Amino acid sequence: MKVLVIGGVAGGTTAAARLRRLDESAQIVVFERGPYVSYANCGMPYHIGQLIKDRQALFVATSDSLRTDYALDVRVRHEVVAIDRTRKTVTVRELAGSTTYEESYDKLILSPGARPIIPRLPGTDLRGVFTLRSVQDMDAIKALLDSGEAKAAAVIGGGFIGLEMVENLMARGLDVMVVEMLDQVLTPLDFEMAAQVHSHLRLKNVRLGLGDGLKSIARDNQGRLEIVLASGRMAKADVVILAVGVQPESDLAKAAGLKIGPRGHIVVNAQMQTTDPDIYAVGDAVLVSDPISGGPTAIPLAGPANRQGRLAADHIAGRQVAYAGTQGTSITKVFDLAVGTTGLNAKQLRQLGIAFRDSISHSPDHASYYPGSTQMSIKLLYRPEGGKLLGAQVVGVNGVPRTVNVLAAALKAGMTVFDLENLELAYAPPFGSAKDPVNIAGFVASNWLRGDVELVSWDEMARLDPRDDAVLDVRTKGEWEQGHLDGAVHIPVQELRSRVSELPSAKRWIVYCKIGRRGYIAARILRAHGLRAVNLSGGLDTLKAATELQGNFEEWRARED
Ligand code: FAD
Repeated sequence: MKVLVIGGVAGGTTAAARLRRLDESAQIVVFERGPYVSYANCGMPYHIGQLIKDRQALFVATSDSLRTDYALDVRVRHEVVAIDRTRKTVTVRELAGSTTYEESYDKLILSPGARPIIPRLPGTDLRGVFTLRSVQDMDAIKALLDSGEAKAAAVIGGGFIGLEMVENLMARGLDVMVVEMLDQVLTPLDFEMAAQVHSHLRLKNVRLGLGDGLKSIARDNQGRLEIVLASGRMAKADVVILAVGVQPESDLAKAAGLKIGPRGHIVVNAQMQTTDPDIYAVGDAVLVSDPISGGPTAIPLAGPANRQGRLAADHIAGRQVAYAGTQGTSITKVFDLAVGTTGLNAKQLRQLGIAFRDSISHSPDHASYYPGSTQMSIKLLYRPEGGKLLGAQVVGVNGVPRTVNVLAAALKAGMTVFDLENLELAYAPPFGSAKDPVNIAGFVASNWLRGDVELVSWDEMARLDPRDDAVLDVRTKGEWEQGHLDGAVHIPVQELRSRVSELPSAKRWIVYCKIGRRGYIAARILRAHGLRAVNLSGGLDTLKAATELQGNFEEWRARED
């Protein structure tokens, strides 16, 4: 059997190596347009930032090692330019020279990836304006920084590549601004969770412009880049990183008549076969199923690309396999924070018309009496009936990877929030709590679904009806004096039982504390005394983060004037 693979990085090399392990006799040829195969593109921002010092460390395998270890025929700088499905051949252009040749196949695997979107705006082709996908992009950005000429950078787009670049450019001593067209960075998060990231970016002295987009870039008479934003704001930079998203590289598949989805992704079945059963496609270029909604989704991440590559090879080797879909588990480092997500968020669930409830809990990542504990925030989204998990978001300094991974596994296993209450997770004071943050998130959600407490979200606070609703702060006197919500009544939770008669019983009481725990206790007390009471989800911490000024462009301008 002769198998050709197009694309020699994440999905392509995985497929080729797996196939070799299953079939020693297959002839396997990998075509890669670029000069490198199997490199760690996820590590590139950190090499630019000099955290990964050794460039060579990014090359997980080389053409030579794939030849020797897996007997793969790896052809770098070879671009496949056409597929003839009737003759089962591809046309290959050798980029070093300019010859083209044909190669026949029994099975073909496409793993062409996704290219960065370059907005059609003036100046995006100027020297000093970059995207980051390939090793060459990385080398060019790093060379400019190494020259010492760059003092300021503008990152356009607040997705994970954009924010990783923000952090690494700052590590190189540059002043960095990030501009995001939406009102929040990191769209897998819901707004109030992203608000914590905004606050952290401001803390780290990043210039954060939200709800604004790039309009044009020009070179000024000192040779610097002048950036004009849609709002009319202007800024100077020496390096601009365009990180506004990616689009699938599906031109080849389209030209070959394979079915393409509405946003240009290659349509595949659960065996990763395209509409031509002898042609498989994997990775960033494909449309797969979302196991939660059952609908189509495209999630450009390395984990799915690797698993799909492996699965395509399994199927070619005759194994009965089926891809279970991509639920979108991700994690990103933003300075001291880690941000993890899995499944669908509130915006997506609303768009899909899926009924859900959500709740937020804040817990120490490990026993608070053991040094170094930090707060971790978890948002769960789940079915109102039965509590089946639909998604989770985790933001914190420590413990985020283990937490999001537990939640991702729970989601995959079809667990409910009631299952989370009972998960038995490892605990010793340096590592966790006897009630793990995942258990606590499960308690909060389950309490609501069982009717033990009712929750209101931070955005509902702006819609309270003063004729019916009243707000009760149950924190300590010291906390109250440092600031509280306008119009709130203050009774610390410890005094509530003896002072409950002070609260008019005709009102619905919205109870709040710092993170929601004391608010829950207080709401239970009020209900036991016959009052209507609801607890503010995530407490004042969530409300404050979501309602404060998110961007800081104006603040920077004031500083400079
Ligand atoms: P790629 O790995 O992009 O490989 C496709 C290859 O195909 C390319 O090298 C291309 O040159 C080649 N090719 C395309 N067309 C042809 C052709 N016609 N002929 C020959 N060759 C062709 N994901 C995560 O999960 N976590 C992370 O932390 C993370 N960080 C990232 C950081 C950066 C800077 C980038 C750019 C990506 C990051 N990703 C991350 C995404 C991850 O790298 C991709 O999801 C993954 O590489 C996709 O694999 P793929 O095989 O589909 O495409």
